[in-house]
Parts: sequence; C-alpha cells; structure tokens
Amino acid sequence: MSTLPISFPRFEQSYARLPETLFDFCRPVAVSDPRCVVWNSALAEALGLEAWADAPSVWSGNELPGGITPLAQAYAGHQFGQFTMLGDGRAHLLGERVLEDGRKMDVQLKGSGRTVFSRGGDGRAALEPMLREYLISEAMHALGIPTTRSLAVVTTGERVQRERPLPGAILTRVAASHLRVGTFQYAAGCDEPGVLASLIGYAIERHVPEAADAENPALALLEDVVEKQAHLLARWMHVGFVHGVMNTDNMALSGETIDYGPCAFLDVYDPETVFSSIDRGGRYAYGNQPSIALWNLSRFAETLLTELDPDPEKAVERAEAVLYGFEGRFKQHWLNGMRAKLGLFTAEEPDETLVQDLLGFLYREERDYTAFFAGLDPENANTGVDPQWHSAWRARLADQPQSFAEVRERMRRANPRVIPRNHLVEAALNAAGEGDMAPFHALLAVLQDPCSLENIPEKYTRGPSADFGPYVTYCGT
Ligand code: AMP
Ligand code: MG
Repeated sequence: MSTLPISFPRFEQSYARLPETLFDFCRPVAVSDPRCVVWNSALAEALGLEAWADAPSVWSGNELPGGITPLAQAYAGHQFGQFTMLGDGRAHLLGERVLEDGRKMDVQLKGSGRTVFSRGGDGRAALEPMLREYLISEAMHALGIPTTRSLAVVTTGERVQRERPLPGAILTRVAASHLRVGTFQYAAGCDEPGVLASLIGYAIERHVPEAADAENPALALLEDVVEKQAHLLARWMHVGFVHGVMNTDNMALSGETIDYGPCAFLDVYDPETVFSSIDRGGRYAYGNQPSIALWNLSRFAETLLTELDPDPEKAVERAEAVLYGFEGRFKQHWLNGMRAKLGLFTAEEPDETLVQDLLGFLYREERDYTAFFAGLDPENANTGVDPQWHSAWRARLADQPQSFAEVRERMRRANPRVIPRNHLVEAALNAAGEGDMAPFHALLAVLQDPCSLENIPEKYTRGPSADFGPYVTYCGT
C-alpha cells in the first residue's frame, strides 16, 4: 500500500474531527490485482473525480491519494429487533468531497478489508452483491428516489470464501453521509461525555444546517429525520421497493436509501411480499415498511432524549409529538405520489378510497404492479382494470381542468416502465459472474431512463415468466 503524491480535489475529513470513540483510523488491506469493471462517469464528473477513472488501485484502496487517512465508523444497531454492536467491518471512509455549494459527499470503499469492527467476518465482498448494489442504487437514483450512489466496482483478483469461493470485489459508495440511526445508538450508549452532543452537531451541520439556530436543535434534527424518512418510505412504496433489512444501522439520517443487501422489487402486488431468506417472520415485508420505519425512528428519538429536554418526562413528550407526526407525513407523501400515478393534479377527499380500491383489485387479481400502472390509460378500459373503478377514475379526472394529454404526461413521469426486475438482475449478475458484463451494462443503460418515451425492448418491461418461481434473496453479501 502506498500514498500517492497527488490528492483528490476539494477533499476533507471532517468525520475524523469527531471524538475518537466514533471511529478507528485504519487502512484498506491491499488486494493482488485490482481491475475496474464498472465506472460511473456521470457521477465522477459531478464529483470532479473524472481524472481518477483509470485508477483501480485507488478504488481498491491499494494506493491512497495524498492527505487521506481512512477510517472505519463505529455504530450499533437493532438487527431484526435485537440490539448489537456493529461498525464498518468491511468498509473504509476515505473522506468527503466538498461540492461547489459546500455540501459534503462521503466517499467510502466497501469490501476493502478487515477492521477492528469485523468480528468474525473477512472484511471482503463478492462481485455479484457489489454489482447488485451498483445496479439497484443507480436505478433508484434514476427513479428519483434518495439513495447512496455507486462510483465504481473493482474486482480484486482474489477469491472470497462464501458457501463456495467467489470472485472478490470492492464498491465505491458515495453518500450524503454514512450517519445511521445506529451511529446515534452507539454514541448514546458509549457513556462518554460530549460524544452524543458532538454527533448531533455534526449531523445538523451536514444535513440540516438551519436547525443550528432553532430553539431546540436536537428537536429540529428529529423533525427533519422523521420528515425525510416519511418521504423516503412513500417513494419506496410507490415503486414497489422492498429493502429487506431495515435494521436501525441501515437507516441513514440523510434520508437516503442505504445498504442494498437482500432488497428486491415487487412483480405481483402483494403487501406481504418478503424476499429475504432470513426474514422468516415477515418483519420487513413490503407492506410493513412504513411501520418499521417508525419503529426505527423511535429508537433514534430515544438516543436524543437527554438533549431534547433536561426534564425526562418533557423530553419524552417532545419526542412523541414528533413521532406521532410520522404517519400523517407518510400518508401525505404516499397519497400525493399515488395521485400522480393516476394522473391527478389536485387533492380530493375520496382519492384515498379510489387508490385503496385499485390496490385491492391488483392484490385480488395478482397483477404486476409496475406493468399495470405503466399500461393504465384513461381512454382505454381494456387494460384489464375493473370497469366500475375505471369509470370512477374517469369521472374524477373529468373534475380537473387538465386534458387527457396532460394527464398522460403526468402518469408517464410517475409510472416507470422499467425497474430492476428480479429476473433481469439475476440474469445480469449470473452473466457477470461468468465474466460477461454485457447484460449488466445493457440493463444499467435501460434503467437510466425508467420513464423513457423511446421504444424499450419488451424483455425489460414485462414481468418474469412463470418458470422464474418465487424470488429469494440472500444476505450473505
Ligand atoms: P449489513 O448486513 O451489510 O448491513 O452488515 C451488518 C454488519 O456486518 C456491518 O457492521 C458490516 O460491516 C458487517 N459485515 C458484513 N459483512 C462483513 C464481512 N464480510 N466482514 C466483516 N464485516 C462484515
Ligand atoms: Mg449495513
């Protein structure tokens, strides 16, 4: 491992100025033969890192640009409801790229070797799960959903031992920050004076600078995090996204989707859908996600209690008042998005019934969620929709001044035709595992413009064939 004479432009390490209990300085463990298999030139350009395109040794951690002292972050978390001490067991934060507007973006290597937080793990990642995170995070971004981004995937030239030996890889993840609910759980539990307050100050500076001047900054932070999660969860529900492992360490304060493990998208609409092999109780089922988000937010609020009010009872009251607001906020975001999916420009009281009736129909008829909305048309009742519902919807559309052309345009933007469908993702990753990256790049290209007006080959828009069977995702990433 070596340090390069040149540095990343406008790069900082503000996290390293926090109390040391929150992280451990450590370097990535060098790999034998790093090669870049995916590079995100658009993101690189946005970050001003385009000059580093041909630098697999940097994106594997073999070489560090000048001035960088990487670190692994400490955090805790409730995993399936059980509290555990965690931390970056296979990730290294290189630092933060400072954008023109002053915002900082974390640049982190994932799969870059063991750290003090690795427990029994090898600190490594396999190629397929890293390509999966790249593909789905970039698809989410193109769908307009807040998410961490993926800059590069580098193969290591080494094998990682899972159920069988697999090619190893390292992903470069870019995020508004890697602060998690679990980071606050760690800080609140560490019993060192000032740590929690520093972390709150840091989160405010990065994510809600205006909260610094609020009468109660910690409360303003809580409000912001609750609002961002309400928005995020609504967006997931709109596109049929199932995160799969909504542990508190996988909930980001920034409101970005983070940690693409066993996640997957609905084909057929069913709120009880679970993809993850380890989620036997259905804790993180599609329809449960908003309630789980609130559960996680409650854990977050608990970490802030001492900072919300010196009087413990008042602190609880304050936290509860914000948490009680989650459901209403979520519902507002969700309904507004569903209205857009139906081409509605205005909000009317009975819209919720219209939406719920439709979802009930999709569920009973086992319809493909994405294909149904993409094919829905106000002037064509032959798209297999309940005729009674269709005329109620048309009557509702007739109440607004907008033309059907305007309605169609609104619907087009709100109803993606392509999502990273499970069978497509599987096929692309299987091919990549055998050395053929072409299906991966083809799928990635189509996912860049999910509401495209262009002709999208039908194989990308239709659901899986009957022989694909029930989809199961595995956490062993
Ligand atoms: P995740 O399920 O990816 O959210 O990871 C949960 C925790 O396990 C985090 O603390 C990770 O850093 C850690 N972890 C996951 N895989 C590995 C690995 N191969 N080696 C070391 N730590 C790991
Ligand atoms: Mg995680």
